[in-house]
Amino acid sequence: MGLFESALKQYYKAAKLMDLDPNLREVLAHPKRELTVHFPVKMDDGSVHVFTGYRVQHNVARGPAKGGIRYHPAVTLDEVKALAFWMTWKCAVVGIPFGGGKGGVQVDPSRLSMNELERLSRRYFSEIQIMVGPDEDIPAPDVNTNPKVMAWFMDTYSMDVGHTVLSVVTGKPLEIGGSEGRLEATGRGVRVVAEEAANYLGMDLRGASVAIQGFGNVGSHAAKLLSQELGCRIVAVSDISGGICNERGFDIDELIRYRDENGGVIKGYPDGESISNEDLLTLDVDILIPAALENVITAENAEKVRARLIVEGANGPITPEADEILQNKGIFVVPDFLANAGGVTVSYFEWVQGLQWYFWEIEDVRKALHKVMKKAFATVLKTCRYYDTDMRTAAYIVAIERVAVATKLRGIYP
Ligand code: GLU
Repeated sequence: MGLFESALKQYYKAAKLMDLDPNLREVLAHPKRELTVHFPVKMDDGSVHVFTGYRVQHNVARGPAKGGIRYHPAVTLDEVKALAFWMTWKCAVVGIPFGGGKGGVQVDPSRLSMNELERLSRRYFSEIQIMVGPDEDIPAPDVNTNPKVMAWFMDTYSMDVGHTVLSVVTGKPLEIGGSEGRLEATGRGVRVVAEEAANYLGMDLRGASVAIQGFGNVGSHAAKLLSQELGCRIVAVSDISGGICNERGFDIDELIRYRDENGGVIKGYPDGESISNEDLLTLDVDILIPAALENVITAENAEKVRARLIVEGANGPITPEADEILQNKGIFVVPDFLANAGGVTVSYFEWVQGLQWYFWEIEDVRKALHKVMKKAFATVLKTCRYYDTDMRTAAYIVAIERVAVATKLRGIYP
């Protein structure tokens, strides 16, 4: 099953339960725009390589499209469509005035020089410029993209229109219109919903064991905040180089320092035993946080998952078949587009700050983020109990309802 088909399966389940109008159901199931671009990039050795990229806008009923851009060799249009679809529900469930978009380029950025990466980024952005803009569609970082890449995007657009346009992308460096707290935001959002879920389940977080798959921006910040602010023990982490575990819990600052000095990977970290990425998912822990890529918990391994609570830091880490198995096992899952909405929430704050050229203090960003995430969690939990369903379906119901109301109020043009 393709990723978009999996996403639709989740959506139709919710649409049925909430008895969504069949006309609206079809409108909201389809992406509004799908753009595929093939573009040449001059490589350092003088050759020219043609790359393929995408930008999809799923829905813009509640505001401009919003969503990241990922660089990965396995990016497909199907994947980008699914990710744009989830962005629509993500923005709706936390109540920020955006629709859903996503982009991607088929590339392994670790094989490019810095100059090649810059030329690729600038050319890709100019190719999708017919769709993006501060009032149309606002990209941001995602897998393998970062503030540096956002700076090139912002500059490319600004050079083209002849003046600086901060709010055409979010996730920028602080010095050029980024927001305080944006880098940690997705991890902080994961931390907030983990705390809310633990409270609901009656789980004591002091000393609770946590396994995290992925030690990039989301995984490492979630690890740091869960351990330093809530007293959790981070007993296992992994990345593309493999995993490590330590019953006593890792010193996350030390681990981050090691990663940064070790080519960006945790492989070889002395203070732990090595485990595989696959083993990490089935460890006997209180909380499991998949924060890497999609489709990692499947019908094959779901039965073996032993965590009591799963917080999806990544987009789409659990397949629909696995979801059912986990539910039957009584595992409480905080779904991706709720759990990882902290990033886009602070992107919203960054967009607002950029439009006003007025910048907030870190305390204000954090306070506002906590408030948004707590409120969204409470609304979804209430809906979950009302419909006697799972948290994912409840999150869809809350989000679909908001997009459906906006669509009905605006009407179908002409
Ligand atoms: N790429 C992130 C996500 O999947 C952030 C998107 C944004 O900030 O626009 O939610």
